[in-house]
Amino acid sequence: MKLTVDIDPSSGFCAGVIKAISTAEQYLSTHEKLYSLGAVVHNDEELARLGAMGLQRIDRLADLSTESPSALGRESFPVPPVLIRAHGEPPQTYREAASAGIPLIDCTCPVVIRLQKSIREAWERLAPKGGTLLIFGKKGHAEVLGLLGQTDGKALIVENPQQLDALDLPLGGEVEIFSQTTKSPVEYEAVCRKLRERVGESRLTVHDTICKQVSSRHKSLADFAISHDIIIFVSGKSSSNGKVLFDLCRSYNPRSYALSSGSGLQASWFREGDRVGVCGATSTPKWLLESIKNEILTNNY
Ligand code: SF4
Repeated sequence: MKLTVDIDPSSGFCAGVIKAISTAEQYLSTHEKLYSLGAVVHNDEELARLGAMGLQRIDRLADLSTESPSALGRESFPVPPVLIRAHGEPPQTYREAASAGIPLIDCTCPVVIRLQKSIREAWERLAPKGGTLLIFGKKGHAEVLGLLGQTDGKALIVENPQQLDALDLPLGGEVEIFSQTTKSPVEYEAVCRKLRERVGESRLTVHDTICKQVSSRHKSLADFAISHDIIIFVSGKSSSNGKVLFDLCRSYNPRSYALSSGSGLQASWFREGDRVGVCGATSTPKWLLESIKNEILTNNY
């Protein structure tokens, strides 16, 4: 079958993920082991590559207790540091690490650090006056937990516009809303529109906090999806940014297919002469997009 395959030039890791991965690689070039608190990137293939270099995932700092120097009875044994990924962490994590003497390599993305600070400051303004702080984001997502922590867990999380109707949210006093950095700009606009109807313009402040790399990618990805016959979207199953961007592709091109590795490709998707577009999330490595392009071409679907 004759196919043309293009890789979306704007796909691949965002700056925050690149920084976290290169920091891990640099550390592991001179050390045997580094922990990461949570997956450093939502992509199994990239995690396997980093795992082979010595990056080991833990889900809680408490998981290290069995490996602490005192547990091993070797006070001088250096504890490998823990990398904080680009999503960031709540203040509680930093307090726990300090009290347990666990060294941290903090790779929180500067954009997320700014957002955490803005939320902290907004909450200091709102809380004494009985105001409300909303975060548009995915409940339980690492970045959202870090943002929520800036308000001692008091912010309200909204996942979609419908929730503003369905949930009986106590929207008292002044209301300020922030978005998780990787959410869809279109959905955020819909949430803010609904919120405006509920509380009125005068009580509401909307903060434009979607990452510019994400919002600009929405526009370029839509163009990419339209200009190809079929879209192969590559992303880890747990990537929330991946779900958002895949839905975007599918809304512009119904022949969009999602997979996490080349083994998911199916011959029945392709038609003679197709112009195939290969793209991915902010957590999809460029090398994986290249390998899927090669697989499509060499298998001659
Ligand atoms: S999506 Fe943007 S804010 Fe989030 S880690 Fe990447 S660069 Fe940072």
